[in-house]
Amino acid sequence: MTAHLFGPNRQKVGYDDQEWSVWILGMDDLHDKSSLAEALEFAAEHNAIFAELRLRDDSQYSPVMYAVVLHWGYAWNQAVEHSFGVDCGHPECGPCTVDRVLPKAS
Ligand SMILES: [Zn+2]
Repeated sequence: MTAHLFGPNRQKVGYDDQEWSVWILGMDDLHDKSSLAEALEFAAEHNAIFAELRLRDDSQYSPVMYAVVLHWGYAWNQAVEHSFGVDCGHPECGPCTVDRVLPKAS
């Protein structure tokens, strides 16, 4: 399987009506979260567990797993969101906060 999480032809791996979720690559599992902080915490904990599993058992048959934070179904990366001109969703992001307070005239 070839897929792109970032870039102009990035692929949606979650649901576009769910703001925050965590995708477990390797199990193809989706976990809905109510905030970026919650999603980051969940992803960080799971990635640490996956690293531990990898270190303990480097069998070529054990699946490689990663927890990826999704924003509206796409892999979340603050710089990438900004490059698309999208609100990155970070509650304390300076530029995005200004746009939330003063919505751009359409
Ligand atoms: Zn931002």
